[in-house]
Amino acid sequence: MAKKLMLSNTSESNNWHMSWKGWVPLKCKIMAWRATINRLPTKTELLKRGVPVPNVVCALCNSDEETTLHLYTGCFYATEIWSGIQDWCRLAPIFALEVSDLIKMVDLITTTKQSRYILRGIIITTMWELWNERNNRIFKGKSRRALEVVENIKTTSYFWIRNRSRFKDIDWNVWCNFPLNLM
Ligand SMILES: [Zn+2]
Repeated sequence: MAKKLMLSNTSESNNWHMSWKGWVPLKCKIMAWRATINRLPTKTELLKRGVPVPNVVCALCNSDEETTLHLYTGCFYATEIWSGIQDWCRLAPIFALEVSDLIKMVDLITTTKQSRYILRGIIITTMWELWNERNNRIFKGKSRRALEVVENIKTTSYFWIRNRSRFKDIDWNVWCNFPLNLM
């Protein structure tokens, strides 16, 4: 199903194809892919479709209009999370002009197949958790600090990579210390 969806939207993704391989659950990959083609039901998109929304303010920072681009690249709350991921994975500062840059950059900044495989999953897990945090705030009135979300990204991705890849024996401390070089 995912592949079909992808093919029907090639013109909008500038012929760039997101890889469907990897260790994160399919629901996360679909969500991340929808984000790259601006198909997430953000407040701004809902309003465009005539759905009444109480306001269009981003629930993460309460200061800007909630668009997909803002949620993933402009929002200062999201920036705090990306910076946590950057520190954890020892990456150069993450800059993205488009949502798809977040996934595209994985190929540019990794040097081995293994680190690419791991980082791609971490980026998608982060996109998933950001969207979850946004939904929890809007629908459940629950909010967490950026640091807590980063910790949650570590545990969720640890659980997924252990259960869904050949890295079944990764030690938690190794994962937390530096996930891109698992031996
Ligand atoms: Zn925001």
